[in-house]
Amino acid sequence: MKTEVKRLNYDLHLHTNSSDGSLSPQALVDRAVANQLDCIAITDHDTIQSVPIAQNYILKQGYDLTCIAGIELSTKWRSHEIHVVGLNIDIDSPTLLAVLETQKTKRIQRAEQIASKLDRLGFTDSLTKTQILAQGDVVSRLHFAQFLVAEKAVTTVEKAFKQYLSSKGKAYVVPDWIALEQGIETIHQAGGVAVLAHPLRYRLSTASVKKLLRDFKSFTGDGMEVAQNRQSEQELVLLSRWCRELELRASRGSDFHGLSDYHDVGRCRELPDHLTPIWTTWLTL
Ligand code: AMP
Ligand code: MN
Ligand code: MN
Ligand code: MN
Repeated sequence: MKTEVKRLNYDLHLHTNSSDGSLSPQALVDRAVANQLDCIAITDHDTIQSVPIAQNYILKQGYDLTCIAGIELSTKWRSHEIHVVGLNIDIDSPTLLAVLETQKTKRIQRAEQIASKLDRLGFTDSLTKTQILAQGDVVSRLHFAQFLVAEKAVTTVEKAFKQYLSSKGKAYVVPDWIALEQGIETIHQAGGVAVLAHPLRYRLSTASVKKLLRDFKSFTGDGMEVAQNRQSEQELVLLSRWCRELELRASRGSDFHGLSDYHDVGRCRELPDHLTPIWTTWLTL
């Protein structure tokens, strides 16, 4: 008789309202359970706040769900903003906590600068109004985009980025994130694995993405995201090929920020069987 190896249903890139996601950690966990996931990772931008809340809630409810401690670190590589997902990290790591404290200060300073640009463009109280939307410590550009939609300056978040918040936008501020190498090092110091987030979403040329991936590997990065939400078959094939060539482990994550017709917890393409999943570094089945 053929034994079936259980296919883990997992999603290793999820945001909560501690950063720019719309669900609380508890609501995110409930959604993961409703969608029959086995394992999730909460990976908020530069904060680990929601991780213990989600883990305690799972215990309290007695859910059969594993929640891996994660983070999405904002980093800089050759003047580009690059995101590194850290998985299975120790959230009490002093090195990590020190880096998060610096990132928090830099994020606040950048928010102040974006807001004063917007105020000079004619908006009023951009910072206060955006902080109210953000609700917490992490003010992300997504919150500024939501502010611009609320002010009826644009009709969609996408347009807010295009016109105001992307690197070519009117209110763009160059951030001062840690270097890519330091992001990887910080995750390793916290005992985790470092995964390059959404490699095809940086608006880089193909040659630049390959260079980024090679640098990431040479800086001792462990894995890359291959399977994502709203991804074409060609993208999946291309990322799978690079993942094999570079001998990186493969991750699967929806980058969920909130429910929509296209976004849900666990809604993501499958990893091809020929790749080694990143979770095999901390879990054996
Ligand atoms: P920040 O970390 O403050 O620089 O904000 C980056 C976040 O903004 C990303 O994690 C996404 O959630 C969101 N974002 C970036 N670009 C876009 C875009 N073109 N459309 C919608 N959301 C975006
Ligand atoms: Mn985000
Ligand atoms: Mn990201
Ligand atoms: Mn993300």
